[in-house]
Amino acid sequence: MTLFAKIITGEIPCHRVYDDAHVLAFLDINPLSRAHTLVIPKERCASLRDLSDDAGAAIGRVLPRIVRAAMAASGGTGCNVLCNDGADAGQEVMHVHFHVIPRVGDHGLRRTWRPGRLDPEDVAEILDVMHQSMARIG
Ligand code: AMP
Repeated sequence: MTLFAKIITGEIPCHRVYDDAHVLAFLDINPLSRAHTLVIPKERCASLRDLSDDAGAAIGRVLPRIVRAAMAASGGTGCNVLCNDGADAGQEVMHVHFHVIPRVGDHGLRRTWRPGRLDPEDVAEILDVMHQSMARIG
């Protein structure tokens, strides 16, 4: 059982921000900024790839409210919302979670983006594979 599954059952305590039948949100214990919050589905699932549509929708429904609450509590002037999905993407706790990280002055997420340029010759293949994948799942 993951750490977050134990937080859902109450075996491990948390600083609860929000709770409903499908979603739990609580303060990150090692925050990047004030009011850094984790939003998790109650469905036990390691990867966003495998999360049910219903659980995903339940999270999407409350995310704006949690962003507003975290920004109110932090006085943040911006907010990063991110999901580290998979060990290669930096995921450490193998239960789906979204980080809500207000940007407060110097505190918050520091991004290192290395943007490329969309290759027009590659677009058709990218879209073909993505559309096929989405048709299979949806
Ligand atoms: P990730 O690297 O995306 O898997 O992030 C896991 C997050 O969980 C980290 O930001 C940790 O600080 C946070 N975390 C780990 N244990 C706890 C806990 N008991 N309560 C709250 N947050 C936690």
